[in-house]
Amino acid sequence: MHATMMNYPLTTNHLIARAAKLFGEVEIVSQAPDRSLIRHTYADLHARSRALAHGLLTAGLQPGDRVATLMWNHHAHMEVYFGVPMAGGVYHTLNLRLSPEDLAHIVSDAGDRYLVIDDVLLPLLAKFGGRPPFERIFVVRWTDQLVPEGLHEYEGLIGAGAPADWTPPPANENDPIGMCYTSGTTGRPKGVVYSHRATVLHSLASALPDSLDLSVRDSLCPVVPMFHVNAWGLPFTATMVGAKQVHPGPHLQPDALLDLWAKERVNVSAGVPTIWMGIMKLVAQDPGKWQLQPNLRMVVGGSAAPESMIAAMDELGMQVIHAWGMTETTPLGSVARLQPKHAQLPAAEQLKIRAKQGIAPPFVEMRVVDDQGREVAWDGEKIGELQVRGPWVAAGYHGGVEAADKWTEDGWFRTGDVVTIDADGYMQITDRTKDLVKSGGEWISSVALENALMGHADVAEAAVVAVPHPKWTERPIAVVVAKPGKQLDEAALTAYLAERFEKWWLPDGYVVREEIPRGATGKFLKRQLRDELVSWFDDKPG
Ligand code: AMP
Repeated sequence: MHATMMNYPLTTNHLIARAAKLFGEVEIVSQAPDRSLIRHTYADLHARSRALAHGLLTAGLQPGDRVATLMWNHHAHMEVYFGVPMAGGVYHTLNLRLSPEDLAHIVSDAGDRYLVIDDVLLPLLAKFGGRPPFERIFVVRWTDQLVPEGLHEYEGLIGAGAPADWTPPPANENDPIGMCYTSGTTGRPKGVVYSHRATVLHSLASALPDSLDLSVRDSLCPVVPMFHVNAWGLPFTATMVGAKQVHPGPHLQPDALLDLWAKERVNVSAGVPTIWMGIMKLVAQDPGKWQLQPNLRMVVGGSAAPESMIAAMDELGMQVIHAWGMTETTPLGSVARLQPKHAQLPAAEQLKIRAKQGIAPPFVEMRVVDDQGREVAWDGEKIGELQVRGPWVAAGYHGGVEAADKWTEDGWFRTGDVVTIDADGYMQITDRTKDLVKSGGEWISSVALENALMGHADVAEAAVVAVPHPKWTERPIAVVVAKPGKQLDEAALTAYLAERFEKWWLPDGYVVREEIPRGATGKFLKRQLRDELVSWFDDKPG
């Protein structure tokens, strides 16, 4: 047997220790609820994460114990990200926008032992029926509010810090470190468990120039919540490269974000399309108001970035980087960036490529499978379900729930996204398996219709849903929101879509709403719209 290389464990403990050593002075800025800015450094983050790990072990944390969080994006949440795994525990981010029933279910399913919570979120504890199941609750104080009796101060847990000669217990790279539940748009939320190894490899792939291109030169503001797939892993990736981090806390309104970006010279941000819609509107209204960094990069994912949005951001000097992923994929699964071979294409073609969901980074494999279970060709035409595998793709759910239909016998994860992949490997989502419109045996893409509608000058938002139809099985109905001060006219929208789609694709009706209902992670709640519109054709047969 020849000796090859050392079996050096891939752990997040290394990421934070290295950042403290090499980038110890680089800042981690957190916006408090009162909008003051709290300044820490990577050296502080390391010291405080060690103190937290030491404090938790002293409090009796056992390997694999879950520590839940109910927190906004800020330094204390990052301390939990690094400190809990350092102690051998598993942090579990709770989505503070979920319903009381879902939260109660998730906490008991995960078997959370401890909770770390922002004092401003204490009212959410009532969501657990007044009797939180946690053994101990640690409160991060942002206000003068006293910590309620029976609860503990987070700063008390960190206390005097870990002794200088204390070393964390040895970690295995396959140990679990974190947990996040799926958003539950299809069925009950299910727990996904991340390991040291998955998180480290995901960070390496995310930072690559052809992925999100993150480095020590960047000032990054993750707007995507740390309770949603680890803010897309960005706090880890940024720590790996030593980038400055700017956390918005609870202030996610567009003007508050723009103030923060100007002040902290943010040049990369990340979030769902809705956030950018608000940002674009304000910047377009008053272009000189905020001194933003040139070529501000916006990582957009979670739902599709329409072409119209990418083009409008270009005009404002902001670059959209469109990415796709899932809770089960840590989340980065693909990124849509142009390559030298696209340089000669007309601008409209380039825009189309950037609006696709993109190509897989190294170590993520994709395939498309039709409803007969056959793999389909990468020709940009044939649709099927996207299946993926790779070192940061979940192998199962916590507790083995509902695993049977989500993984294939040969070990691929079934995403539930209906896609095409073109000859260059660019994946494009046409729908969720549950959102496709089955009209007369043919498929209509609700996403294609939505993206086109959102490109109409008077439409702010659009969601297209499949409604049961007596003759055609299903037909599309569009729910639309007008831009402020605009009226929406059904005939005009139909004429607009008719220039772009076959006649049988055009929605059979429009519903104008003030807003489209959204779930806890900002995605349209199409299930709710489908339920509301289910009897649309009952009195309109034929
Ligand atoms: P979640 O696990 O809550 O992050 O949701 C994952 C799902 O969000 C994916 O399966 C897609 O349906 C959707 N999604 C994520 N990113 C995109 C994107 N860039 N474009 C369209 N859909 C997306």
